[in-house]
Amino acid sequence: MTTIRTPSKIIPRAFPGIKPKEIEQVISKSRVTTYKSGTVLCRENAVEQTFYMILEGDVEVSKGINQQETRLLKTLTAGDFFGEMALIHNAPRAATVTAKTDVVVLELDKAEFDQILEQSPSVSMAMVHEISQRLRQNDDLAIEDLRVRAAELADAYQRLSEEDHTRRELLTNIAHELRTPLMAANGYLQILQKGTLPPEQMNEAINTTARNVEQIVTLVNDILFMQEVELVMPEFEPVDLAAIADRVVEAYAKKALARRVRLAVRKDRHLTPAAGDPRSLERALTALVDNAIKFSPNGGDVEISLTSRADQVLVLVKDEGIGIPPEIRARIFDRFFHVEKNGDHLFGGLGLGLSIARQVIQQHKGTLTVESVVGRGSTFRIALPGWRR
Ligand code: ADP
Repeated sequence: MTTIRTPSKIIPRAFPGIKPKEIEQVISKSRVTTYKSGTVLCRENAVEQTFYMILEGDVEVSKGINQQETRLLKTLTAGDFFGEMALIHNAPRAATVTAKTDVVVLELDKAEFDQILEQSPSVSMAMVHEISQRLRQNDDLAIEDLRVRAAELADAYQRLSEEDHTRRELLTNIAHELRTPLMAANGYLQILQKGTLPPEQMNEAINTTARNVEQIVTLVNDILFMQEVELVMPEFEPVDLAAIADRVVEAYAKKALARRVRLAVRKDRHLTPAAGDPRSLERALTALVDNAIKFSPNGGDVEISLTSRADQVLVLVKDEGIGIPPEIRARIFDRFFHVEKNGDHLFGGLGLGLSIARQVIQQHKGTLTVESVVGRGSTFRIALPGWRR
């Protein structure tokens, strides 16, 4: 059983040096009240007229920082007092005080409180002491808050300038990537316009122009898709990845045949659906299959395998191509990073495929990783959360 400490024992703790007569005076002018845990005794900004001294239990003092946040300033316990500042300053409450446990308090109304202050030097001294300490604590808190805000502002500024830099870099890259095929197409068109091209070179000129225009279209589509993936969070639905893999294989059948690359899909008989957006997942898988074929040797095998386990669906895209040197492995997912040449072999590509794929997979809360041995091949691995009803 808890014993409520008597006011005569508690009051000297609050007001050291108080004389027995003054203690009597405080007691005679106050009342003992019990409040349930959770009760708000002082409310910030309210005009209230009571002074409290805690006899038993704990209260929490908190202050609103902005519209949403409140900050716990401290916990007060038996022998502590609160509510004096508003009374002395005739001001609204500076903080909110809430009972943390059931509390028993000694309460004094303003008129009585003023009288005691006038008559009791030890109570007045304790007040001065306490108030100056609280003001100093408030200053420290305000300085600490300012320091935190300044650091947050500096961080935000840094992030903004990094974003601005990335945006500029992106624009420069896009302009650069567009200029090469545009200049090539434009050059051939001018020659065609002049009508001076020998007929036997006509086909070559048209094909080159068409190829460059196609590259521009692909680039623009990729950029639009990239922005869309960044901005719009699609509604997820159950996605049949096997059907997507079949569609991608069908779309690449001609290209694979031209390179004599064997393209195969292997799938679990009971493949569980993934949770996702089918259009962007198809774009991601397309990027991996496109690369697998592009970086394969003539006659190489490319295999897409689909398995489900626990609450995940796994997609592996495996090739027997040139592989990825360890020193560039971290960068292959960056926008516009691409390798144009390996030995005598030239590769097309703008370096957007993997960055789009990674963005899509991240948006699905999945992972995209790669294992690769130079000269032997690469395996890209997508892990996606399975669909849950
Ligand atoms: P792109 O294929 O248009 O060059 P990606 O973003 O898809 O751009 O790929 C970036 C780079 O990653 C490629 O240029 C290549 O160097 C490397 N890479 C991607 N996939 C493979 C792969 N299957 N085998 C070897 N290298 C790859």
